[in-house]
Amino acid sequence: MIVVAIDGPAGSGKSSVARTAATQLGFGFLDTGAAYRALTWWALDRGIDPSDERAIAVLLETFPYAISLDPARERVSVGEVDVAVAIRHPQISLAVSAIAQNLRVREWMKESARTLVTNSGFPGVVAEGRDMTTVVFPDASTRILLTAREDVRIKRRAGEVAGRDLAETTASVRERDAKDSNVVDFFTAAPGVTVVDSSDISFSETVSAIVDIVRAGSDL
Ligand code: C5P
Repeated sequence: MIVVAIDGPAGSGKSSVARTAATQLGFGFLDTGAAYRALTWWALDRGIDPSDERAIAVLLETFPYAISLDPARERVSVGEVDVAVAIRHPQISLAVSAIAQNLRVREWMKESARTLVTNSGFPGVVAEGRDMTTVVFPDASTRILLTAREDVRIKRRAGEVAGRDLAETTASVRERDAKDSNVVDFFTAAPGVTVVDSSDISFSETVSAIVDIVRAGSDL
């Protein structure tokens, strides 16, 4: 099983780049942020405060989470509910960091990601998030930190979320990165991790850079 681990901050383009790279490689794709978002959605739906560590730990025991690793099919569900669209709402982005600080949650997410990758049925999986290269898959065949300058990341995020102005997006991206980096450092590359800076290259050039690194590091 080939694991390609990709980390990076908000707006670095990780998700779309990793999904396209997975398609080109014939691999599965795992967006690990989706699980944190889905748990946040579930907590808010049930009226539970995401920063209530105990209540979230209890909720986790029966978290009916499912995600498709097929890069051509974006399917994320909690029980019978398809939450693929709902988890991208700015309200979720605002609350998700509180859930991500919970160490019980992080442990659950780590085990869940490893199980999903092992059982994926693909010859390899591109897994993206914040702690893929360091905590979840430290022995991955390829480990990449995908970065971009802050102004570029903010512009990309503002373009993704309709109706948001630049000042609002700047505040939200900065706040989320600051909170998230309290628990895991995704701004500096750990030893052995290759940095890809997408600030001044196009989307397809970024995908190619990643596919080339994966191919150079394996027999593909
Ligand atoms: O990648 P995305 O922006 O969808 O991630 C949503 C949130 O999930 C992040 O802001 C972070 O709080 C959390 N996360 C994490 N570790 C990961 C993936 C996501 O803490 N591996």
